[in-house]
Amino acid sequence: MSEYKGRCFCGAVEFTVSGAPAAMGYCNCESCRHWSAGPVNAFTLWQPSAVKVAKGVDNIGVYNKTPVSYRKWCKTCGGHLLTEHPPLKLTDVYAAMLPDLKFQPAVHVNYKEAVLRIKDGLPKMQDFPKEMGGSGVTLPE
Ligand SMILES: [Zn+2]
Ligand SMILES: [Zn+2]
Repeated sequence: MSEYKGRCFCGAVEFTVSGAPAAMGYCNCESCRHWSAGPVNAFTLWQPSAVKVAKGVDNIGVYNKTPVSYRKWCKTCGGHLLTEHPPLKLTDVYAAMLPDLKFQPAVHVNYKEAVLRIKDGLPKMQDFPKEMGGSGVTLPE
């Protein structure tokens, strides 16, 4: 089984993910933008059991603005680690945290909130796919 290592900006926190992600893509929502201070969030979604903290578990801070997203970071460097989505039973390990994983984005979500138009030919979901409780509606790039 494939295993990928990730670490925070300073290295105080290290973790692994194993197997294959359930989905990969880009989130264009306002919350991802505000939290990350970047225009989009490149996500990889995993079963929560696939994610294991290898070092620095006591050094992880967590904040949940809503019950949908528990955002985690390193208390020393402030580097972002991942977001747990308990209602979806999935964990987003930001693609930038997994340098050895071949990032193969398949979709943009929450494109109605996008500030950066990205003409990459991928489907642009207005919010989320139907199977994730969204409208399933796609928008033009
Ligand atoms: Zn750190
Ligand atoms: Zn988002």
